Amino acid sequence: MLDANLTQLRSILTGLAPQGRAALLPALHLAQQIHGWLPEAVAAEVGRVLGVPLADVHGVIDFYEMLSRQPIGRTVVRVCSAPVCGLAGADRMADALCGYLKVETGQVSADGEFTVEHAPCLGLCDHAPALLIGEVAMGSASPGQSAELCARKVERPISFVGGDIRILTSNCGQGHSTSLADYSSHGGYAGLKKALTMTPQDVIAEVKAAGLVGRGGAAFPTGIKWEGAAKTAGQPKYIVCNADESEPGTFKDRILMEEDPHRTIEGMIIAAYAVGANRGYFYIRGEYPYAFKVVSDAVDEARQAGVIGENIFGSGLDFDIEMRLGAGAYICGEETALLESIEGKRGFPRIKPPFPTTYGLFGKPTVINNVETFCNIPLIVQGGAAEYRKIGTQRSPGPKLFCVSGQIQKPGLYEVPFGVTLRHLLFELAGSLKQGRKLQAVLMGGAAGAFATEKDLDVILSFENLSAAGLPLGSGAVMVFDDTADLRDVLKRLAHFFAEESCGKCYPCQLGTQRQFEILDRAAAAAAVAGDRERLSDVGATMIDASLCGLGQTAPTAVLSAMKLWPEMFEQIK
Ligand code: SF4
Repeated sequence: MLDANLTQLRSILTGLAPQGRAALLPALHLAQQIHGWLPEAVAAEVGRVLGVPLADVHGVIDFYEMLSRQPIGRTVVRVCSAPVCGLAGADRMADALCGYLKVETGQVSADGEFTVEHAPCLGLCDHAPALLIGEVAMGSASPGQSAELCARKVERPISFVGGDIRILTSNCGQGHSTSLADYSSHGGYAGLKKALTMTPQDVIAEVKAAGLVGRGGAAFPTGIKWEGAAKTAGQPKYIVCNADESEPGTFKDRILMEEDPHRTIEGMIIAAYAVGANRGYFYIRGEYPYAFKVVSDAVDEARQAGVIGENIFGSGLDFDIEMRLGAGAYICGEETALLESIEGKRGFPRIKPPFPTTYGLFGKPTVINNVETFCNIPLIVQGGAAEYRKIGTQRSPGPKLFCVSGQIQKPGLYEVPFGVTLRHLLFELAGSLKQGRKLQAVLMGGAAGAFATEKDLDVILSFENLSAAGLPLGSGAVMVFDDTADLRDVLKRLAHFFAEESCGKCYPCQLGTQRQFEILDRAAAAAAVAGDRERLSDVGATMIDASLCGLGQTAPTAVLSAMKLWPEMFEQIK
């Protein structure tokens, strides 16, 4: 069997060989698909064909959670262990699946078909508890459904999309086809056509004038980023779409990709024209196989129609997009880690500066933006910056997507203009709390966020107002916890997430996330030891001050905000 698989693999890898190491991740995905897992002989063959040392191939396999050097079931069942899914019974779900399949977590069922694993956030928080069975996402699962779930007789969950405005989400939640024809018939690619009549400098000036800032959490001004890459000498230049949306509580980019893929592609092409790039990469997290398929199909369709490729719309612009599927590493959402991942390396963040605009993918000038950011671009170019700025507030212009999940009547994706209140989002749009329940906390910004309470409900959702209130906007995750939620368990799950996802490159984060989890694990089990409270504060402060990248710098923020808000919760920790 191994010999036959190696022969098949060799013939497939030949096509990837010219890319060398940059094809390592796709090659490992293919190899795992063919052989089921990645034994040494398979890893060695991949390394030989691509010219990558075996030790480096092993290093990459071990870095990514979805690649395995041990035998795994033909179907891996991933059960989300993030806070919202935890509250909705994810652990009971995992136990029920293990019982039904007669297998322990992480082991292979007797027939070799299934392995059940706990997974970090699957980006289906509005359908908690969420599962990924092979490549099929399932949500709102209950333990009694184990047989149906394993037989994949449960339909893919469809997310609710609503809000005060429907601009970025105009094609989402309506059962639209994702075809190029459908997108074009709703005004799609008009922004690109207009951009191609402008000079690249004017396109950048328009994006700057619109005041768009990145929607992935860092809020860096998009036009300034583009200008930096445009002005940097050196070719080729690259456009990268960061679709490694992995922040617990965040699922907006998944919906945009699954339901309206051409909008992001259009934004990428406009960026390419503006900065003078001829090549793009669309990097989607491994836990989003359906989004990967939809976007890949859309890219193929765009290529066949001449929307990407050579001489786009007769403008002289050549630009093509290559797809990349991640393999389960939250850190790859950090922009430089993502670039390393495309280059076929472990996703370790780089030390900055230099920034990607001057030294990005393969050391070349690169613009990297996330899906929601690119989706704003056609809107800005088509209608103009002045029109765009009529939406939102003066310092936070434009529409914003919020992912509302947790103990709320209508979890889903909500599009609003910046400037509405949190109360409006939760109580008027998302249907309020469940009958008879009181609000305990709202986790703003995801796992790397901070808690809000009742007193914060009238905070205005804008960068400036949230910042003044000490609350992060992050990627737009809003997780709601009512008075039945055990916040100690929530904190333990957040800490577990960071301890698992720290890449280990720098000690403050590598050790800090482990110590933080151990303390919160003891606290959740009412088994704290002397000095734990001070240790928790110290570890948090150290991670914020000394970690290399945003993961470590934000890993303790939710915990520290909880310590401030509910000191009594930590009283048993002496
Ligand atoms: Fe890696 Fe954490 Fe250091 Fe970032 S802060 S480089 S995730 S160890």
